Amino acid sequence: MQRFDNAKAAALTLRPDDPVYCFRPEVLKADTRQFMEMFPGKTAYAVKTNGEPVVLKTLVEAGVTAFDVASPGEFAAVRAVSKEAEMLYMHPVKAQSDIRLALEQYGIRTIAIDHEDEITKLTRVVRALDIDPGAMTVFVRIQTKGQAAYELSKKFGAGPAYAVELAERLNRSGYKVGICFHVGSQIEDPDTYERALASADWVRNRLSFDIAGLDVGGGFPAEYGHDPNRKKVEMPSLGQIMSRLRGDIAEYQFDTTPLVAEPGRVIVARAFSLIVRVLLRKGRRLYINDGIWASLSDSWTGKITLPARFIPDPAIRSRNGAAETIVPFKVCGATCDSVDILSRPFWLPETIDTGDWIEIGHIGAYSLSLRTRFNGFYPDTFVEVATPFEEGDAPQGFASLETMAD
Ligand SMILES: *Cc1c(COP(=O)(O)O)cnc(C)c1O
Repeated sequence: MQRFDNAKAAALTLRPDDPVYCFRPEVLKADTRQFMEMFPGKTAYAVKTNGEPVVLKTLVEAGVTAFDVASPGEFAAVRAVSKEAEMLYMHPVKAQSDIRLALEQYGIRTIAIDHEDEITKLTRVVRALDIDPGAMTVFVRIQTKGQAAYELSKKFGAGPAYAVELAERLNRSGYKVGICFHVGSQIEDPDTYERALASADWVRNRLSFDIAGLDVGGGFPAEYGHDPNRKKVEMPSLGQIMSRLRGDIAEYQFDTTPLVAEPGRVIVARAFSLIVRVLLRKGRRLYINDGIWASLSDSWTGKITLPARFIPDPAIRSRNGAAETIVPFKVCGATCDSVDILSRPFWLPETIDTGDWIEIGHIGAYSLSLRTRFNGFYPDTFVEVATPFEEGDAPQGFASLETMAD
């Protein structure tokens, strides 16, 4: 991987026509260590957020020893960077052949379920492989009602009474039993974890045995940009959320239970920025070389605001307008698909033109992991960058919620 001091140096040296991912390993390590210091339990990185080999390898270097995995592809990606790393197979709905692969080939002994049929599948595999159920920890995923930018509770999770039934059944079969939840991604309200802990408490108090663990999932918010034209939404900081969570854990007397968290976004968001090129400026529209089918699908939903920085091409000698005037541009993606338009504009200097670059910051989560080969575009160029995104010039660009007239 080529190394540069910052994204601007990379853009002006490489003059890239393809999108370039700027990886900041030191930022990734710092954010990982910060999370691990704040969370009073095991940190299992959620691989789906960004499963690039270089990311997983850097996390292992930073001291991560456990990974939340969901598929054979993720088992292999983790094993490729670490022979010893523990894997927690936390997808509640699994193919039986994948369960077998997990237990037999990858030595996975921690798994999540939210339905009796998943217990049936698991038990078939456990018997076939002659594994002692007592060597397995099975987490019952409970439903939560969250306040997250990305609500995931509707898809998975057992209602409280059913969770009790599942847990008792697992216990009778000899498994160690834990409780887990996942409140959704980018939570906005610190009460969210408390509500989930209250549900976990309700379930635990009705069990005839002690639980082996509590897994509080992911959802911890990353810092993004904000639109200067809108009132700044007060987002709780990670520090605030964590101290509140630690307090709630003690209050609900989970502090003697082994704890697990599955952070994704909060760990990896700041570790990448993305350099895109303006392929064409047409009035107040910018056609760029990336889009919702590649690195920008998470921002397409309009729920997060990414900070962006203008990198003017010095080869452009004459420009119209004033560099200090920041105006909204509608951003169209690389593919021919008409839905490939970002839902919120980028605010950039009115001088921006065909051939310039834009650095989009804090894009490490749910960006490259979601890219597709649609229409033949597949960004896959990486450089390493030393300086954190925030330490450059102030970002000019943001996105706003209003749809723009052309
Ligand atoms: C996606 C996911 C995570 C990670 O969520 P973030 O919001 O990125 O922290 C953690 N646990 C489970 C079960 C997930 O599906």
